[in-house]
Amino acid sequence: MKQYHNYINGDWIEAIDSQANINPSDLGDTLGHYARADQKQTQEAIDCAHHAFQSWSMSSIQTRFNCLDMIGSEILARKEELGSLLAREEGKPIAEATGEVIRAGQIFKFYAGEALRLQGEHLPSVRPNISVEVNRSPLGVVGIITPWNFPIAIPAWKIAPALAYGNTVVFKPAELTPGSAWALAEIISRSGLPEGVFNLVMGAGTTVGQTFINSPKVAGITFTGSQSTGGRVAQACVSRGAKFQLEMGGKNPLVVLKDSNLTTAVEYALNGAYFSTGQRCTASSRLIIEDAIHDQFVDALTEKLTALKVGNALDKTTQLGPVASQSQLDQNMKYIAIGQDEGATEHVRGGCLDLATPGHYMSPSLFIETDNKARINQEEIFGPIATTIRVADLEEAIATANDTPFGLSAGICTASLSSATKFKTECEAGMVMINLPTAGVDYHVPFGGTKQSSYGSREQGRYAAEFYTSVKTAYIGT
Ligand code: NAD
Repeated sequence: MKQYHNYINGDWIEAIDSQANINPSDLGDTLGHYARADQKQTQEAIDCAHHAFQSWSMSSIQTRFNCLDMIGSEILARKEELGSLLAREEGKPIAEATGEVIRAGQIFKFYAGEALRLQGEHLPSVRPNISVEVNRSPLGVVGIITPWNFPIAIPAWKIAPALAYGNTVVFKPAELTPGSAWALAEIISRSGLPEGVFNLVMGAGTTVGQTFINSPKVAGITFTGSQSTGGRVAQACVSRGAKFQLEMGGKNPLVVLKDSNLTTAVEYALNGAYFSTGQRCTASSRLIIEDAIHDQFVDALTEKLTALKVGNALDKTTQLGPVASQSQLDQNMKYIAIGQDEGATEHVRGGCLDLATPGHYMSPSLFIETDNKARINQEEIFGPIATTIRVADLEEAIATANDTPFGLSAGICTASLSSATKFKTECEAGMVMINLPTAGVDYHVPFGGTKQSSYGSREQGRYAAEFYTSVKTAYIGT
């Protein structure tokens, strides 16, 4: 079985330990054994990135463009192969997995262009014979910590801007999905970046991630993952004055008003709540439906939901792949039991499935007529489980949508411009979707949330510069 090593200072280096990467669609299929670094190896990677920073921060923007553009081109050229690797290790159906790979390629291309568009400002001073320049400088070593649910797109949207703005990188992917990260690192290793500028350190969060967040040589941490780990990252960074950015969970509402097109509203609910097996931070897990069409909506969604084909992610006819891991499957079953214990009606019963290949399969679940205060509506489940909440009107819909600790994405289906405008203005979310699913975003505009979903500046698009650079103001006497 192939062993996949860490990439440190331009070399592939064996770690003291490794772990098997197992296909959730077929537990008998192992993708390979991936390195697990200890603290010492992690520190070596940080030291190399720290050493490489001085010259990379001064590198020409043409060099940065060339490297990032090459990475983007190769990802796009190999989209099918990388898509099937991603589907095999994470369980996302092959079409969705290939779509994620394409997005990763586009992100590298976008930031290649951004490297050429670095800007500053030149201003007059309020004092005579002085001029002022405001420029952006890279931070230094950026520690990148990512989750398993978008194993190539999230690394791409952190690594590409980090490098474009002149930072060096230590990157730790999720333990569950090191395969896509390794494939991405292998492409990066051939892009012409000087040694030490990009380093892949696979391993445990509590070892590798913890070493990143504690190291005084790591100037900034960009983290995507759960709220509980995000809290730990924040504490460590605040205590040593490091810059950090957190993207965490969601409990995203999709409001459906009685004047909406029912067919498309049901399609958007099905897509937003269940596609990617509900394992998206932007999943619409709370379906807030106006009283007059609630029952019709439930009937139409039930028909679609029960017809969804659950299966192996590599089978092109599969619509719902397996859950990514046994622990996530256990969590999903736990929340179904919590919903039932709380007295909610499970209208479409979700449960574990035995299919042709042994995997973490489950059928989707829909609870109806639920109370927004119930745990299944307040806590992130991260599985193919959604609820309906019946509301009287738009006012109640907005109040219900906002009654959550999270604030990532929020959607509304309506034919009324004034209802859409009111929702867009009053909903407490970083991203608003009007007559669209709550999940599914562009790569060239900001991504992020409010309340406990996010902390710090936005990711993606030009807004990424806020995190990956610091602003320097120079006064020049003439
Ligand atoms: P997780 O918090 O368990 O792990 C995320 C990463 O943190 C992993 O790489 C893990 O190894 C690392 N980690 C764990 N302990 C650590 C520690 N002590 N110090 C440093 N790093 C540590 O999250 P997950 O289960 O991989 O991902 C699912 C979560 O991610 C969900 O809550 C989901 O909503 C969220 N998510 C958010 C977004 C977003 O942009 N808002 C996008 C995707 C996923």
